[in-house]
Amino acid sequence: MIIYKEVCVGCGRCQPYCPAGAIAFEDMKSVVEQDACYECGNCLRVAICPVDAIHDSPQVYQYPRALRKYFSDPCATHAVTGIEGRGTEESKTNDVTERCGPGEFGVAIEVGRPTLGMGLADIQRITRALARSGITEIEPQNPIHSMIADPATGDLKVEMLNERVLSAIIELQVTPERLPDVLRTIKAVANEVDSVFTLDVFTTLEPGLTIPRKLLDIVEAEGFTWRPNAKINMGLGRASD
Ligand code: SF4
Ligand code: SF4
Repeated sequence: MIIYKEVCVGCGRCQPYCPAGAIAFEDMKSVVEQDACYECGNCLRVAICPVDAIHDSPQVYQYPRALRKYFSDPCATHAVTGIEGRGTEESKTNDVTERCGPGEFGVAIEVGRPTLGMGLADIQRITRALARSGITEIEPQNPIHSMIADPATGDLKVEMLNERVLSAIIELQVTPERLPDVLRTIKAVANEVDSVFTLDVFTTLEPGLTIPRKLLDIVEAEGFTWRPNAKINMGLGRASD
């Protein structure tokens, strides 16, 4: 995002809307620190500027900077997956996508949050750790899959590593037998990640809407405290058989 300094009147109204803290005063005008900006579009979308000084920068869709927009702007459609909102359908819509069927387990690692954000180098720290443990089952419909240069090492394409985004999700589908290795690996690499992340483990519910005991046993055995979460996406559901 850019703010045209010659147009800005320095009212400061845009600054609180930036989740990255990337807008600051300089010479009584607001300016966007380009390295900190996630290209989330919030400052423009709220239409708070009284003089129309805020605009998308010409580079916003240039690779690799465009990754900032795809992972941070909920209205941007990811160029590879064609999906809005971090470029993936996520586990939250599993009832429709059926990525994870009965008896299968899914794992989602949601890295970054507003104000903290994250560097894509943090994603590489996790994908490298997973690869070292022999875990390379990154969900093919997740944009991270196409960003990996070498599945054997978990290395991302090198030109991406300096990009900062609001949040990104690594998704895996694993067999129950592989889940303990995945959980151990994520726990071991957690301190190397320079942001916050949420670890989701998901599956389909059993008859009676209960969480499979087998899943909970694995999670507890690996030392995690679990909290059940469900999300109902209005209008997305399907009638079950
Ligand atoms: S696009 Fe988002 S991150 Fe960039 S300056 Fe605007 S609000 Fe801040
Ligand atoms: S809202 Fe517009 S005029 Fe006010 S500080 Fe931001 S860019 Fe400048």
